[in-house]
Amino acid sequence: MKDTLKHKGMRNQLAQIVASKGITDENVLNGIRKIPRHLFMDSSFEAHAYQDKAFPIGADQTISQPFTVAFQSQLLEVSKDAKILEIGTGSGYQTAMLLELGAKVYSIERQKELFKRTSLFLPKLGYRPKKLIFGDGYKGLPAEAPFDGIVVTAGAPYVPKPLLSQLKIGGKLVIPVGDKAQIMTLFVRTSEKEFTKKEFGEFRFVPMLENKN
Ligand code: SAH
Repeated sequence: MKDTLKHKGMRNQLAQIVASKGITDENVLNGIRKIPRHLFMDSSFEAHAYQDKAFPIGADQTISQPFTVAFQSQLLEVSKDAKILEIGTGSGYQTAMLLELGAKVYSIERQKELFKRTSLFLPKLGYRPKKLIFGDGYKGLPAEAPFDGIVVTAGAPYVPKPLLSQLKIGGKLVIPVGDKAQIMTLFVRTSEKEFTKKEFGEFRFVPMLENKN
């Protein structure tokens, strides 16, 4: 596991690209400058790690495009010590971003292999989420609710009710909704029963799958 000045230089460029596409949150851009994305991917993709693209991470899954991670993180407006739930741990890159933003992070992954691999990998880089959970994100994490923010990093065919109900008042759910392509959607809980909803253009994610058992 090597991180060099060359990698750092490429990350600075990547942060510029992401900024040029509309990301203004300096903390998020600093996360891009800091997180060694090449270590989150198979070494055969290392040369591409700092392109603004998604890449395969095994088990039919992908590490999200940096712009997408930045966009979702910016929408969440993470404040220090905010309690954040991520659905779809995957490579752990978004998890690392949330930790860089100062959040207390809970993250759920339904693929056993990815869950195991990422659980071992993140602490090696010094990234310590509160909890990584092997389970079904459709249910959220009632035992730890309510959350300041919930971010779904897989394409959801519909908005799971438990995720909305596990938000604090003022809490935010960032979720890409749709089948083939997804509309990035932000829900803010304004009272016990009320939510505002805003939509932000089209993205493409691997599907959020429902566990059969
Ligand atoms: N945040 C990840 C993105 C990984 S892709 C990253 O930055 O690398 C989406 C991930 O969501 C995949 O790992 C997939 O296995 C997981 N996923 C899909 N459906 C899920 C569900 N119902 N519950 C939890 N994780 C799910």
